[in-house]
Amino acid sequence: MERIHNFSAGPAILPQEVLEQARDELLNWQGCGMSVMEMSHRGKEFSGILNQAEADLRELMGIPANYKVLFLQGGATLQFAQIPLNLLGGGSADYVVTGSWSKKAYKEAQKIGTVRLAGSTEKSGFTRFPANAELDLDPNAAYLHVCTNETIHGVEVFDYAALPDSVPLVADMSSHILSCPVDVSRFALIYAGAQKNVGPAGLTIVIVRDDLLGRCAVSAPTLLDYAVQAEHGSMLNTPPTYAIYMAGLVFKWLKRQGGLVAVEQHNQAKADLLYRAIAASTLYRNPVELANRSRMNVPFTLTQAGLDETFIGEAKKRGIVQIKGHSSVGGMRASIYNAMPLEGVQALTAFMQDFEKAHV
Ligand SMILES: *Cc1c(COP(=O)(O)O)cnc(C)c1O
Repeated sequence: MERIHNFSAGPAILPQEVLEQARDELLNWQGCGMSVMEMSHRGKEFSGILNQAEADLRELMGIPANYKVLFLQGGATLQFAQIPLNLLGGGSADYVVTGSWSKKAYKEAQKIGTVRLAGSTEKSGFTRFPANAELDLDPNAAYLHVCTNETIHGVEVFDYAALPDSVPLVADMSSHILSCPVDVSRFALIYAGAQKNVGPAGLTIVIVRDDLLGRCAVSAPTLLDYAVQAEHGSMLNTPPTYAIYMAGLVFKWLKRQGGLVAVEQHNQAKADLLYRAIAASTLYRNPVELANRSRMNVPFTLTQAGLDETFIGEAKKRGIVQIKGHSSVGGMRASIYNAMPLEGVQALTAFMQDFEKAHV
């Protein structure tokens, strides 16, 4: 059977090569006679898989030695609480709200301690990232939290160097981690749920600078203490072994693509193609400001009312699926993560043009 063009926002498309390798190794991993799913997480086979995954992630992202890489569970959503539990230290933190996810992060952190809204673009519909001059920053904040790619609203930050640098910077990179090179040293902590751009659901990656460890609230569950997790090499309890293995295969695949510089070029080409198709049409519209148009999640609406369901139905007939926008914003959304080939975006833009001709 042909694979379909899958534009899901997450869990999302994975590289076909990776799925094929996982299939080939499913019953018998590298001659050991068992599946990765059946291995003790403390055995030498799985330790090797985990260590290799960490080494490859460090190489891909150029993660400095004074950062820990943690493979955790609970999704990015648990990080919304785990970050303030670990970093607030009785102080206050600043949040920039630029879409649904950073808003959720801000709300959850309010349950843990004192947080301030440093800026929000909600009134103007979450279509951009605010300039530093618009932000009301607390120079004594324990950290500043940003979401560098808002998956639902399609708002991405590209210029990390321009982000405020007066306090430790914490970034939710769930939906664009590994999509381009990143200067990790600009951040105190980076986190991402794996199921958008890394691997299957069930794994959360946290990259945290050493000096931020050891400040966790004493009342917090042990499992949520970054320092303890780091001490135990992410194996305080059973980690999501198969998801880590799959992420490891994706890291190898990214290296074969030429690393993140090459991956970024590929992502740019795909995004350019789709945004050009939207700009050239009268039927499709993307509301996001040019400077923040996401290369990973491209939301667009149909300017003609009542056509959405027809669009989705006809797309499906052309093998284009999971294109419906999030219920909070409506319209469509094409998620074009690393694993989406250029041919997938070409199929989408060709369909969009045909649909416009037929219906407008
Ligand atoms: C999907 C997503 C989340 C939530 O991730 P879960 O793993 O489902 O908890 C948080 N932030 C961003 C930017 C996301 O895309």
